[in-house]
Amino acid sequence: MSSLLEALKQKADAFVDLRRDIHRHPELAFDEHRTSALVADKLEGWGYAVERGLGGTGLVGQLVRGDGSRRLGLRADMDALPIHETTGLPHASCHAGVMHACGHDGHTAMLLAAAQHLAEHGRFSGTLNLIFQPAEEGGGGALRMMDDGLFEKYPCDAVFAMHNMPGIAQGRLVLREGAAMASSDYVSVTLTGVGGHGAMPHRATDPVVAAASIVMALQTVVSRNIDPLQMAVVTVGALHAGKANNVIPQSATLELSVRALDREVRAKLERRIKALIAAQAESFEVQAQIDWRPGYAVLVNTPDETAFAREVALELVGDESVTLQGPAVTGSEDFAFMLERVPGSYLFIGNGDGDSAGACMVHNPGYDFNDANLPIGAAYWALLAQRFLV
Ligand SMILES: [Zn+2]
Ligand SMILES: [Zn+2]
Repeated sequence: MSSLLEALKQKADAFVDLRRDIHRHPELAFDEHRTSALVADKLEGWGYAVERGLGGTGLVGQLVRGDGSRRLGLRADMDALPIHETTGLPHASCHAGVMHACGHDGHTAMLLAAAQHLAEHGRFSGTLNLIFQPAEEGGGGALRMMDDGLFEKYPCDAVFAMHNMPGIAQGRLVLREGAAMASSDYVSVTLTGVGGHGAMPHRATDPVVAAASIVMALQTVVSRNIDPLQMAVVTVGALHAGKANNVIPQSATLELSVRALDREVRAKLERRIKALIAAQAESFEVQAQIDWRPGYAVLVNTPDETAFAREVALELVGDESVTLQGPAVTGSEDFAFMLERVPGSYLFIGNGDGDSAGACMVHNPGYDFNDANLPIGAAYWALLAQRFLV
């Protein structure tokens, strides 16, 4: 074990307490006032120059040392989810219906532990930018910070981020070069027909039958239009129409989640889905209104930065605890937007597998971040910063 990891294990208790304090006080997207103030105060206390209020409740802590010209960005997310916690743990959420069910409390605490270590003992030369973002869970907090001039004010030669992952052995570091997480688009479709009596369908134009046909037709997009060797998901997660057995409703709505790991596949999905819905609607003589809301981009880890991150991981925990090229994930992550602007790499740290408590999936009301990862994640950030800023 590296001496750096040993050093961070020695002071892990204070950061476990901090992590649990954040867990007890979860805040939803763009409402992370207490959390971001806590983070900003800590960073200032350790000598970082802090800009608060970047992208709403986001902040950046900067530490410049020596005369090195390289500039590094490390990102953690701070927001919680609208889930009612059922863990029954002593540090369970004290806000009903709000919970750190994705471990962003742990991500924040890991980066803070690294921040303190680097301020006290860091041997580096260059500019360290610690980016604490709001609203990762669908709110696009990364984009908001970028719209507020994140990379103009704090230019970075590379950016890195980390997420915990249940189902992977605790502390295992999983990296991947290339497309690692999916784009995620949200589509809302409203079909409008002519309502009428269920006994006289010929006097109505039924949006229910059109909706049913569209749901089935959409299944052919992935199976018939997308290269079988490419990943694509088209899920109709909601279908709403009608209230009574003898009434043909006026309208029906569908809500879709559309995902891809490739920009061209993503564009083709949009083209085919729109065309299919339009043609199907026309064939049933109903009006279709399609509201296509682009969500997070495909997250692409760049080759050089991923190779560098792998070296850091191997140096820290050894090859028996590192997966050099893990599988891609169909979930999405708004760090993808930062990677569209700046090269970098995103990795997973195992939260626990098998029957262990850490194996409970994120976004489940029984989930909790595994505190055994605090020193590992912090040591990874500290080592990465010292190896990058030379
Ligand atoms: Zn999440
Ligand atoms: Zn998350």
